[in-house]
Amino acid sequence: MIELREVSKTVMSGSEPLTILHPMSLEIPHGRFVAIVGPSGSGKSTLLGLIAGLDAPSSGEVLIDGVDITRLDEDALARLRGEKIGFVFQFFHLIPSLTAYENVAVPMEIAGAADARTRAEMLLEEVSLTGRAHHYPSQLSGGEQQRVALARALANDPSIVLADEPTGNLDSANGRHIMELLRKVHGSRGTTVVLVTHDAELAAMADARLVLRDGRVVENTLEHTLGLRPIDRLGVVPGGVEGRQGHGEQPEGPLVLSSSKKEPTR
Ligand code: ADP
Ligand code: MG
Repeated sequence: MIELREVSKTVMSGSEPLTILHPMSLEIPHGRFVAIVGPSGSGKSTLLGLIAGLDAPSSGEVLIDGVDITRLDEDALARLRGEKIGFVFQFFHLIPSLTAYENVAVPMEIAGAADARTRAEMLLEEVSLTGRAHHYPSQLSGGEQQRVALARALANDPSIVLADEPTGNLDSANGRHIMELLRKVHGSRGTTVVLVTHDAELAAMADARLVLRDGRVVENTLEHTLGLRPIDRLGVVPGGVEGRQGHGEQPEGPLVLSSSKKEPTR
């Protein structure tokens, strides 16, 4: 379970404070596949980085399985991330001097996994890359590199996979392949997947969509319709969260996402 409680992010832009994320609260129960969508600059990567503990919020709490990660020291946070979270980036972030196989196996070996070699082989098989295991990243297509990155993200069998525009640098066929793999991982392992994308077609394949605009949640499909309503192309539906503000109600359901202007109670 991922929980954000009144989480916000403000940075200094020159001498002026700039709020990138306005206070928002959300819960993503275990095993959901959620797409975060919204225009460029709306705060998607910032939100994902806060969930991953790669960045600290300016206010509020981020709980992963009940643990407030904003209170952990660097070592404890790194340990929790290593155990529970796999991250996939838009630009793959593979180590160029290691083969596909080594990119997956070496982090496991460093972490002391006894079965790193067999696991790496299995993971490459899971992303249909067995035949490319001994190629270097420069010898692989973008789609293949992203599949290596996904295999690496799955190395510790994380309960949560976070992916920031993992298809943003791929053509549509390779993008679909990555999306299908994410769905397969979600289906076969029960992994929670949080996918940032600005591709409405990919977002429609998730079972819930959270739409950000200017650092606020403006739409959450599960909140109203169990995800059955197609999202409009701009991702804004009249009477979204803005229209509900001030009611102080949390809708019931498996996924609760809301944005709020309430002051934190602490
Ligand atoms: P998205 O992923 O939706 O494109 P981001 O989360 O990357 O959006 O960024 C949201 C906004 O915050 C953007 O306008 C971006 O320029 C700004 N921003 C992000 N990080 C910083 C920072 N460290 N300092 C100043 N502005 C930032
Ligand atoms: Mg981004």
